[in-house]
Amino acid sequence: MSERQGVRKEQSLVMEEVGNIIQVMPLSLANKIAAGEVVQRPASAVKELVENALDAGADDIQLLLKDAGSSLIQVIDNGCGMSPSDALLSFERHATSKIRTVEDLEAIHTLGFRGEALASIASVSQVELRSGTSGEAPAFMIRMDGGELVEDGPAAPMQGTSIAIRNLFFNVPARRNFLKRPQTELKHILDMIQVLALSHPSVGFRVEHEGNMLLEVEKVSVEESDTGLKRRAADLIPIGKGSTLISVEESTSYLAVRGILGAPESARRTRGQQFLFVNGRYVKHRYIEHAVLSAFEYLLPEGSYPFFVLFLDIDPRHVDVNVHPTKAEVKFDDERGVYGMLRAVVRRALGTSLGTPDISQAQPLHHLDLGLADRFQSATPSSQNPSGGLQSGHRPSYSADSATSWLTGAASKSLYEGAVTLPAGQSRPVDSAKDGVGEEGLLWQLHDTYILTQIRSGLVIIEQQAAHERILYEQALSCLKEGFGLSQQLLFPREIEFSAADYALLESLLPDLNRLGFDVEPKKKNKVSVRGVPADISTGDERSVLDEIIDQYRLFERVDGLSGQENLARSVARRGAVRSGNTLSPREMRALIDQLFQCESPYVGPDGRPTIITMSGEELRERFDQRP
Ligand code: ADP
Ligand code: MG
Repeated sequence: MSERQGVRKEQSLVMEEVGNIIQVMPLSLANKIAAGEVVQRPASAVKELVENALDAGADDIQLLLKDAGSSLIQVIDNGCGMSPSDALLSFERHATSKIRTVEDLEAIHTLGFRGEALASIASVSQVELRSGTSGEAPAFMIRMDGGELVEDGPAAPMQGTSIAIRNLFFNVPARRNFLKRPQTELKHILDMIQVLALSHPSVGFRVEHEGNMLLEVEKVSVEESDTGLKRRAADLIPIGKGSTLISVEESTSYLAVRGILGAPESARRTRGQQFLFVNGRYVKHRYIEHAVLSAFEYLLPEGSYPFFVLFLDIDPRHVDVNVHPTKAEVKFDDERGVYGMLRAVVRRALGTSLGTPDISQAQPLHHLDLGLADRFQSATPSSQNPSGGLQSGHRPSYSADSATSWLTGAASKSLYEGAVTLPAGQSRPVDSAKDGVGEEGLLWQLHDTYILTQIRSGLVIIEQQAAHERILYEQALSCLKEGFGLSQQLLFPREIEFSAADYALLESLLPDLNRLGFDVEPKKKNKVSVRGVPADISTGDERSVLDEIIDQYRLFERVDGLSGQENLARSVARRGAVRSGNTLSPREMRALIDQLFQCESPYVGPDGRPTIITMSGEELRERFDQRP
């Protein structure tokens, strides 16, 4: 063993006594073994080095490669740099500036945290490191060979760090032989850089392979942070010219989601363009990815996958990321919860941007332009949607409070409290003054059955009954789950008598009916006492409401084999929904659309029939036999 001023002294304790066969491994061997875990291929070394540069606060990172990384991987950053003693220490196993206490371990924010990457990489390569903490004072240089210090000393001033890894695995022939073709290794490296660049739009990246620039993305300035990710994604990934990216941003106390979605038309046949990050770490998580896919249901052809970049932030105590240094796997303590929330968030983002009218581009459908479109456009959100739901054409921005509405199911409250109550089963004339003719230009009711409106890409037709059923169905389901139904107390409780069969059914449904906002108590002799009804049911017709729900329940039971809460939710939705033939005011139409797009599955009714049909401009042109 060399006695140079080694950073790496062989600390092996070899038991000399006869009979003892267990030996503590020489440290260099331990490092080599660890290297097998941390560094499997050039791309994993690239990952570790670039992550170190990011952790050091660099906003410009350059990667130079030779032989797809097997003869040279050099990462040059403009980060904080290291002092000479830190630079020497950085090659020590478990030397890290990133955790000091167990509490730190629980709240890992930096990408690296084990302090073993540099030691591992150095043990299987020849390393040259230069690092400086200011552009004026001399920097420091270290050369190592297979983990042994060969040379150190001053170097030309620099701010940042340059680390060159030569001849990776030169002393582990088995691993070197195991490397795939250069193109394959290079692809792994570029995939890795793509992921790192997507998660750090404010950092510029350049990758050169044997003098050829393979990738170059400029840093996106912080002021543009809102569009930063979109721009970075567009710079990095061929999503299709002119195809739109949809922003997502919502948070609750449990989970925050932000990112972008590709529009359905840019979906691909492979899953390659799906990027999921949990607390900043890139992960593959089939189940959670499926949540996104399922949010796109009916918008994508079978077997195609949407592009997305999504960042999930969650209290580290609810997620286990410390699984393996190279395998990006996470486990949430509430996987199903995360699935549901993510699906709902993506659903809403899609609904807002694709399904609802784009007010900024909307033109009145009728000839008479009263200039009201402008007035509508400048209307304040609260005047358009008193229930506080999402605004069509506006990006959803949720406060932690309002966001809990989709978490807790209290969203349903907004319907029962909703400022706009849709007529149930009876029509009423449009009160144009009250209902705001200004909105008429954007929405049009056809045959008192369909709502027509336009989106950027064409025409949207909504079937009002199916749409309203979807809304009421989801409301009912969440009430049933959370017991949130708002009840309106009757002045005088009513006693209602039922047939024995109806009474039996009613009694079995009572706990769930009460969750929906009915306040019904069983009495003797097939009678119930009704003390309250859901807030959106007009009083006086309690009997017919209950009768209709029971009848509908029976019908669904017989015809569709439905039971329990699913049946009840569908029955309540069917009973409460506006019918074909009901005239809706513009305000009601708008409320319907707004509420529809707050649903998890706005595109289908509870029975699976579509609620919405869209006709693209292209389709219209085709049908009119016009060339584009
Ligand atoms: P970890 O990143 O887990 O701490 P590493 O072995 O990757 O472990 O790095 C060890 C230490 O070396 C880091 O904690 C950091 O202090 C320092 N370091 C490594 N690379 C850089 C760099 N590019 N710029 C500044 N400091 C660095
Ligand atoms: Mg590291």
